[in-house]
Amino acid sequence: MLHRLRLPRTYWADRSLLAFLIATTAWLSLTLARGPGELAAIWVGNGILTGWLLSRRTATWPGYIAVAFAAELPARMLAGDEPSYAFAIAACNLLEVLTVAGFVRSRVPDIRAPKDWVGLGGIATGSTLVACAVSGLIAASVAQALHGQDFVRSLGGWYAAHVVGMVILATTTLVAQREGLGLFIAPGRRWSLAITMAVLVAVGSGVFLTSYPVLFLTYPALLLVAMRHQFVGVALGVIALGLIAAVATTLGHGPLWLRADLDGAGRIALLQIYLAGGCLMTIPMCLAMAERKRLAARLGESERRYRMLADHSHDVIARIRADGERVYVSPSAAEMFGRTPAEMLGSRWDIVHPDDVAQQRQAMAEVLATGETRTDIYRVRHKDGHHVWIEAVARCIPADDGSGPPDLMLTARNISRRVAAEQALAESRRELERLSRVDALTDLANRRQFEERFALALKRLQRHGMPVALMCLDIDHFKQINDGHGHAAGDTVLQVFAKRLCDSVRETDLVARLGGDEFVILIEDAAPGAAETIARKVVDATAGAIDAGGTLLTVTTSIGIAYAQRPTAAAKLMAMADAALYEAKKAGRNRYEVATVS
Ligand code: GH3
Ligand code: MG
Repeated sequence: MLHRLRLPRTYWADRSLLAFLIATTAWLSLTLARGPGELAAIWVGNGILTGWLLSRRTATWPGYIAVAFAAELPARMLAGDEPSYAFAIAACNLLEVLTVAGFVRSRVPDIRAPKDWVGLGGIATGSTLVACAVSGLIAASVAQALHGQDFVRSLGGWYAAHVVGMVILATTTLVAQREGLGLFIAPGRRWSLAITMAVLVAVGSGVFLTSYPVLFLTYPALLLVAMRHQFVGVALGVIALGLIAAVATTLGHGPLWLRADLDGAGRIALLQIYLAGGCLMTIPMCLAMAERKRLAARLGESERRYRMLADHSHDVIARIRADGERVYVSPSAAEMFGRTPAEMLGSRWDIVHPDDVAQQRQAMAEVLATGETRTDIYRVRHKDGHHVWIEAVARCIPADDGSGPPDLMLTARNISRRVAAEQALAESRRELERLSRVDALTDLANRRQFEERFALALKRLQRHGMPVALMCLDIDHFKQINDGHGHAAGDTVLQVFAKRLCDSVRETDLVARLGGDEFVILIEDAAPGAAETIARKVVDATAGAIDAGGTLLTVTTSIGIAYAQRPTAAAKLMAMADAALYEAKKAGRNRYEVATVS
């Protein structure tokens, strides 16, 4: 896979490549320059070393700096510099590189992912301008002292050569370090890069082979490469234009010869200004484009993060427009309702339980009107037909486009199990309550329920004048049944007797078992003689034989009746009925007696 090719990263290969680049570019620049003590038109080595350092950890810098310094010295001497001059100028270069690389590193720790590309551009440019000025001042002083060169000319030449070289080469080296050799041969980029570069080379050659003042015509082509390939395009484009311009000008062609009064140094200055103009035009644009890409990536990342939260949340998250239309439903709907999010989009009130629709419409309208968050519990139909209880928190959120009525954001949680548990608890509470008011053997009201109803009946008598009749019943010789046929048979008799009592009264009358074989019947709004009628029915009904485990038993009952036409105390009425019962027992049982009003 060609495009996976990387620049060498093993320890010695990496340093050897750097040494080779520094040495050859230094030698070439110096040889192409006018002679010993002259300064090169574009000094590329510093840009290469700066880009190299910025792509590596700070701790490894000393090794690279030593290698670069050691490579530049012999190259300089080979090109004709004497040792002391070579040493001094190489030291100036190092100072320049360390100033730029050190400042950029301190402000932008990771140059591959800066917090702000435009800011990085400012930091890099600012430090380059300052560092080149400082190194230039020292180098020009050295050139003046050792070779008698004109200080101002040396400083100007150095400054332009180093600024342009630093901008172009540091950018190129950083891009190359980051993207490796795949930079040039990656599929998808290969042809586009080749074509745009061919256009640039064609325009550049055309411009530099003629003698018309049309240097500016190369800039649109440079812009095209830069726009299509950003920093890679700028670096390659400016290098290509620099080479074309240098070769054409050296051969005596091109617009740089139009000013006949300029000498070689003047033409070099023009070339530097021309290349610096190309960088000035394209690099800020690339920085802005990189920044836009970074912001878009960050936006995409945060969008993905929030999307991920919604998509993987156990709760169902839905976005609902003010008109009730669901525009987003998270995938957890499949788990909770058995429906895909797509099936839940749109206005789907049909999946809300019919009994809950009106209340939910009202709740939605309220949240939209007040903007206040609210929580509701209702049922949504699962695809398989059963209803899921959900607890939904609804809140207002701004509409998608920021204008118009707000949307609703709904977070729904399945609380079916909680609701089922609550219902079971309520049911068992009701059952407990019922059991505390019912006699376990006969299922009749127990003494507690009787006392409540009796008190109420007496209150109604007091308030509305509704007469009350109380009947006390006791089975005759019940002990004999227990003794003769066992307790179980006794229980059966009690149960059948209770049933017969219930069958003998109206539903509005209360039959209760107070304990043992004692029962009461409470008759509200009792017409005169009503209790006697019931008593006769009971005596008749009781006469029938009872099947107690295969043995037929017959029992009778004695009944005492007391009426209250006027407000009276419960205990008094009870005592009267009891007294009447006693009378009935005394008079031979299997009969009723009515208490006489005292
Ligand atoms: P009397 O005609 O005077 O009422 O005579 P009795 O034998 O019925 O006497 P009493 O009413 O005093 O006796 C009630 C008996 O009912 C006493 C007790 O052993 C029995 N008993 C009380 N509660 C229960 C019960 O829940 N089941 C059964 N099988 N017997 C009970
Ligand atoms: Mg009895």
